[in-house]
Amino acid sequence: MKSKSIRNRGIQTVAIHGGEKPDGKTGASAPNIVMSSTFVVDEPLSFSVNNIDDNSPYVYTRWSNPTIRQLEVKLAELENAEDCLALASGMAASTGVLLTQLNPGDHLVISNTNYPGTAELARDQLPARGVEVTPVDTSDLASVRNAMRPNTRMIWVETPSNPLLRITDIAAVAEIARSNQALLAVDSTFATPIATRPIDLGADLVVHSLTKYIGGHGDALGGAVIGGKALISSLRSDGFLHFGATISPFNAWLIMRGAATLPLRMQAHQDNALQVADYLHAHPRVEKVLYPGHPSHPAHELAGKQMRNFSGMLSFRARNPHQTAKAFMQGLQVVHYAVSLGHHRSLIYLLETQDLIESSYRLEGSDLEAYRALAGDGLFRFSVGLEDASDIISDLDQVL
Ligand SMILES: *Cc1c(COP(=O)(O)O)cnc(C)c1O
Repeated sequence: MKSKSIRNRGIQTVAIHGGEKPDGKTGASAPNIVMSSTFVVDEPLSFSVNNIDDNSPYVYTRWSNPTIRQLEVKLAELENAEDCLALASGMAASTGVLLTQLNPGDHLVISNTNYPGTAELARDQLPARGVEVTPVDTSDLASVRNAMRPNTRMIWVETPSNPLLRITDIAAVAEIARSNQALLAVDSTFATPIATRPIDLGADLVVHSLTKYIGGHGDALGGAVIGGKALISSLRSDGFLHFGATISPFNAWLIMRGAATLPLRMQAHQDNALQVADYLHAHPRVEKVLYPGHPSHPAHELAGKQMRNFSGMLSFRARNPHQTAKAFMQGLQVVHYAVSLGHHRSLIYLLETQDLIESSYRLEGSDLEAYRALAGDGLFRFSVGLEDASDIISDLDQVL
């Protein structure tokens, strides 16, 4: 039998074996952590980034490192893409893509509600560097089409989006991007490659915060950009080696270990989130539940088409949000009242509408009305963890 490429195996096999093989010298089955910042070479090497390619030996960890490379190969294989660049955090990945791909005079179309760090970068730092930015609700294809200009160089979509769990049709937006010769970048942190593979749907770049589901255990920051070989090599040499946002090999190793169980964890996150969504939906003090896997979600059908797994992220609105937040902080015993998401531990946090609108999203007119209609005065963002669903629900129930 011909040997199969790892990519043609099942997703659980790819998650476990992608990028890894037994150590050639010792036979160690688990990957080694190579913490060395420098590497002994046996011939003189150029110091310029421009002379580094795939065949260059390891020289210095800011350029490349065997442990980081193993993680990159695993992530590229999970996304069915050619290459990956792993970085120190999700924001390092977002910043790197936006700052290296957009030049003064270029135009960016971006989701008008998304991860607040990315939202603020797009509204403050990019315009300060001469990039024009149009935030739109990218789940509304007509708005995306209307926002396109001759100088639109990139569309940036986050789906499902923070915190409204809006779903954007990646294949349809990829078509709009292609016909305008623009790049499509997708922040797929909430979906993970288990739910959605944006490259297969026509996206050019996928961005992940590895700190979330892919690492999965809340103990390592990391980020990644995944895409075609040419684009990733140019990102590597045009920006990242000089930006210096290198991920620690130790974090890369932890995240690789987390990624091995990603398919199993995502299945369990989804199963728990569905039960929690049902519970919240029936609760008299809960005014709204947003979970793409629940039939009540406005884009449930599109989510079903685009996502093979509905993930574990949901948002809900409760009466008296501030009082409820206090009660959660004081009363929860299993669920942690903390930011971040995608960990095995359940995490909940109130995202106040006024604060988000003023500091990050700066929505006006119908965009503001649409946000308030869903979020009211604030949404509890709930990252449903891997504890027993009955314990998560009874923890909420003794407070709500
Ligand atoms: C957390 C997050 C980021 C930023 O990632 P960090 O690892 O915290 O820098 C970007 N996008 C989304 C959707 C996130 O949830």
